[in-house]
Amino acid sequence: MGDHFQTIVDLDAGADEAPGLADRVVAWLVAEGIVLAERTDCVLGQPLGHPPGPNWHRAVAEDDADREPWGGLAVEVGRTVFHGGQGGAEAVTCPRCAVTTPLMTDDWDLIDAAWAPFGAAMTTWRETGEAEVACPACARAVPLPEWRWADDWFAFAHLGFEFWNWPEFTPEFLTRFSRALDGHRTTRVWGKL
Ligand SMILES: [Zn+2]
Repeated sequence: MGDHFQTIVDLDAGADEAPGLADRVVAWLVAEGIVLAERTDCVLGQPLGHPPGPNWHRAVAEDDADREPWGGLAVEVGRTVFHGGQGGAEAVTCPRCAVTTPLMTDDWDLIDAAWAPFGAAMTTWRETGEAEVACPACARAVPLPEWRWADDWFAFAHLGFEFWNWPEFTPEFLTRFSRALDGHRTTRVWGKL
């Protein structure tokens, strides 16, 4: 069985506020018993993460309450391209005109011409924190983080909570999570390694 993750990404946190928010949310998760305060070698991609706490099951559906997570929480602070791991985004939708541009063929081959401007914008965003892509349909320049990705494949943000090998979180837990983030908009990025 491979490793999988679900990352709760804060779409609104700025670079300056991300570290403080990260500390506050971890303190909340520890107080709830969802994760432990101590950090161990329990995550991928970072040396240390927070292992599940005694009440981890409160974050998941009752049906999943016997599926104990075999990984922990890695907190990502700083400008990050969050993505779904293996594979890629099937399509992307312009938030201005709502036209969807396919990025993959039916055989899951990347459509290079469609992908190129987005790939270039991602490089720029990683380096500078700002990038725009002109919509192929309406020609408006749209900031990279505002594009809507099929299956929420990508998110461009400064704060993410990456849970390794946990069952799916309930909508109630996600609502409480968002509240702990000052009501910021969140999205969930899923993936496998
Ligand atoms: Zn458009």
